[in-house]
Amino acid sequence: MTITGPNHGERVDFKQTEGEKQFVKELKATLDEPISLLYPEWKKANTTPREFFKIMGDASLLGYRMEDGVVTQIPWQWNVHTYRELSQLSGGLSIAAFVQGQLGNKALASFVNDKQREKYLLPAIKGDIIMAIANTEPGTGSDAAGISLRAEDKGDHYLLNGRKVFITNGDIADAIVVTAITDRDAEKNHRGISMFIVDGDLPGLTRIRMKKHGWIESHLSSLIFENVKVPKENLRGERNRGFYQLMEVFNSSRIGLAALAFGTSLGAFKEAYNYSRKRKIFGKTIFEHDLKASEFAERITMLEAGWLMIQKAAFLSDSGEDFLHNASMAKLFTTEEGMKIAQWSALVFGARGAMDGQKVSAYIMDAHVALVGEGAPEVQKLIISRNIDRILGAL
Ligand SMILES: Cc1cc2nc3c(=O)[nH]c(=O)nc-3n(C[C@H](O)[C@H](O)[C@H](O)COP(=O)(O)OP(=O)(O)OC[C@H]3O[C@@H](n4cnc5c(N)ncnc54)[C@H](O)[C@@H]3O)c2cc1C
Repeated sequence: MTITGPNHGERVDFKQTEGEKQFVKELKATLDEPISLLYPEWKKANTTPREFFKIMGDASLLGYRMEDGVVTQIPWQWNVHTYRELSQLSGGLSIAAFVQGQLGNKALASFVNDKQREKYLLPAIKGDIIMAIANTEPGTGSDAAGISLRAEDKGDHYLLNGRKVFITNGDIADAIVVTAITDRDAEKNHRGISMFIVDGDLPGLTRIRMKKHGWIESHLSSLIFENVKVPKENLRGERNRGFYQLMEVFNSSRIGLAALAFGTSLGAFKEAYNYSRKRKIFGKTIFEHDLKASEFAERITMLEAGWLMIQKAAFLSDSGEDFLHNASMAKLFTTEEGMKIAQWSALVFGARGAMDGQKVSAYIMDAHVALVGEGAPEVQKLIISRNIDRILGAL
């Protein structure tokens, strides 16, 4: 199987390359039509329908694309626009596309064999099938290696038993990349974990949609595995290397989550800015009050800083350089600042910010879940604190 690697640092300055410009142009065209036109219907039905994944796949917006029969990874410098733009419209659509493109498809693209490529990767890239990735369990989340779902080797198949929770796309996915314990005697848990591709309709698998308050239209699910028979051929990558494979997926996907969180705060900021120039208080618009204008200046400075951090992490990743702590710093900064910006933006609306159906208040909920997804702030701080010497060396 051929998958092209990083694009070796397309950009060496802050100007967009022609390729990036074209990508953004096509992305915005797809968002204008048909996505924005269909979104009210999806919002009303509270769903991310199959149609959405198909539109994204047809427009090559699911992390990969086919070029002359070759699967090509879309550079992070381009991908970040996808999540930034989508989450201004809907955090739910954005996370659903992110999970498919950067978790499910990435997990498939990096490790599948030729048979799995035909059956899963190619249709997933085109949006013909929906993907999810399931690691979190009722007993463990931040400690990703602490899972207990078991996969017993039964000769021609593995038997899976246990539970996963908080799985995006979980109840609508055609295939789910699932982590499971395959060696209970491993000296350390993370050395006994493997990854499997589990078809969503296998007997013994029960999927239940969970209710939540952020990224509304996305499907969050709990998965119950009761003697689920997974064919041997559906082991993904190497047995007992599943934790390392999972970390490889998560390390780069933090860049996308940062871009998603950035889009949420950008959307909230724009709402507040537009409103502040219309609404008059004490005889002038909110924005004309110096006190408030200075707050706008502070918030947009944080937005600029966040976008630069995302672009740097994306650039380093595309260049094949070490980007681990840059991705964590971008995720930490954009999610923590994002929460502040979203709350502050709603305050600009006064009482109106607290009313049902206000777009600005939906951004607060999206900002909250972005803090937790792909590792809470403390997890990012752990990664950053372990790399302080290296960061200092590069500063
Ligand atoms: C909307 C949404 C979508 C999700 N989608 C997926 C998905 O598709 N697939 C999947 O596998 N999982 C998914 N998750 C789960 C997510 O990855 C976990 O929620 C996350 O890893 C945190 O785990 P937890 O919720 O169990 O919190 P816990 O691990 O119980 O942590 C609770 C809190 O403790 C603090 N904390 C964590 N670690 C430390 C530390 N080392 N030191 C000090 N304090 C700490 C943090 O504040 C953290 O929020 C999703 C979650 C949400 C909310």
